[in-house]
Amino acid sequence: MTATKSTTTKRAFTAASFDQYLNEKKLMGSHCANCDANFLPPRAICPDCYDDQLEWVELDGKAKLAAFTSIYIAPTAMINEGYGRDKPYVAGVVELDDGVKISAQILGLDAANPEEIKIGTPLQAEFIERGEGDEKRTFLAFRAK
Ligand SMILES: [Zn+2]
Repeated sequence: MTATKSTTTKRAFTAASFDQYLNEKKLMGSHCANCDANFLPPRAICPDCYDDQLEWVELDGKAKLAAFTSIYIAPTAMINEGYGRDKPYVAGVVELDDGVKISAQILGLDAANPEEIKIGTPLQAEFIERGEGDEKRTFLAFRAK
């Protein structure tokens, strides 16, 4: 268990709260003290014991690659970042040391040579800012170490 409990004011366990924490460069999940289990994206109610007294927990972002794909046909937001047929990117499922899985863009891997990408590659969470001014948002990504 590498997670540390947060002492910040309690926010609702919503995608909006999760995004707000990302903007603060924090990777936050929810924690069920009853089961000692973490959830990411955060859940308000534990799916195992139905406890609704979950707490926010800051995750340290250490992870390993569980599954991946190289994406050549990018959505608009990624095309705007310069990705596409000529510059594919890697998206994958990562398994955090805290026992949760989440999908995210994976940086530092060669998307054009997926045969060289190894499952289990150590990763670290990274926060990427996209957009300008009011449109600026922070996205969660992971980088190969
Ligand atoms: Zn529980």
